[in-house]
Amino acid sequence: MTKLDINDMLTSYDKNNLTIATVCSHSSLQIFNGARKEGFKTIGISVGEKKKYYDAFPLGKPDEFLIVNNYKDILKYSEELKEKNAIIIPHGSFVEYLGANNFLKLNIPTFGNRDVLLWESDRNKERIWLEGAGLTMPEEIKNPKEIDKPVIVKYHGAKGGKGFFIAKTYDEFLRRIKKGKPYNIQEFVMGTRYYLHYFYSPIQENAFKLNKGSLQLLSMDRRDETTIDEVQRLGSIAELEEIGIHPTFVVTGNIPIVMRESLLPKVFDMGAGVVEKSLDLFGGIIGSFCLETVVTEELEFKVFEISARIVAGTNPYIFGSPYSELIQPDMSTGRRIAQEIKFAAKENLLAKILT
Ligand code: AMP
Repeated sequence: MTKLDINDMLTSYDKNNLTIATVCSHSSLQIFNGARKEGFKTIGISVGEKKKYYDAFPLGKPDEFLIVNNYKDILKYSEELKEKNAIIIPHGSFVEYLGANNFLKLNIPTFGNRDVLLWESDRNKERIWLEGAGLTMPEEIKNPKEIDKPVIVKYHGAKGGKGFFIAKTYDEFLRRIKKGKPYNIQEFVMGTRYYLHYFYSPIQENAFKLNKGSLQLLSMDRRDETTIDEVQRLGSIAELEEIGIHPTFVVTGNIPIVMRESLLPKVFDMGAGVVEKSLDLFGGIIGSFCLETVVTEELEFKVFEISARIVAGTNPYIFGSPYSELIQPDMSTGRRIAQEIKFAAKENLLAKILT
């Protein structure tokens, strides 16, 4: 595959008239709202028809819709989007609907470093990155026969925790595992979950300083996952499992949360480590990323996943979080992304934050 060159992509662009485009789902209300606050025009990419519910949210509605038959068709509209000086803001659903290969081929300037996808989607590479950054990850159990404590079994590529299951013994594992589907087994970490939303700017030095650029903590959330987070209404998990009812981990929403303040230095150390290591490995993560963590009773973080773009957990904070309010009032992650693009356009640094 020929590597896309961001400078080539930007040559025809009117830098004073950029538009922000994303797929109408996931965190798009926030992205459009944030872009609008920074003075950008917006394009909502939608399959089949205009998403009617945006009319109910005028401040989160895109200025125009690009209707496609299929998300994979976005590639065919790249000339049209480029004529509008569009910059793509990828979110989890964007990458999922388009498919990783198409996303990497998309010939439109895209916020963030697309190479990160190769490091985050391969669990072995992800571990090299995060452990190399000094983070502690849940122990990986290579041989299911060695299960001697609660584990979580994750199928490769499963979205939103779909199909994941807990096993406490090898027998239980054998009963639940679906044949022929590749999986990983991780220690099930006991503790409280915090999903930390960072923003790394390689071009601004006005936050937590790194060797290059600076890091912000914009917010954090806890995911609401069905059925695991509510099963206790019916009985203990052990009781339910005896009658064949197993908890699932499907994300349905997000709950705002703040953390003990004494843990914040560790939060910044972890974020800084992840950025510094990414600079060594693949030229560096850019913009929003999220570390998915469990805090144990020893107040230690175990990081089980990284998501290298805006996460839906930032949606409770369209008007700012207790952390972002200490940086600038009324600043969502979507708005922060728009600000970064605005700053880069003004300083002629767009090629440093887009790929
Ligand atoms: P993931 O797809 O890796 O984000 O995992 C989906 C959900 O499973 C998470 O949001 C957690 O609730 C749970 N989970 C994942 N890994 C672990 C772990 N090692 N220990 C405890 N819970 C986990």
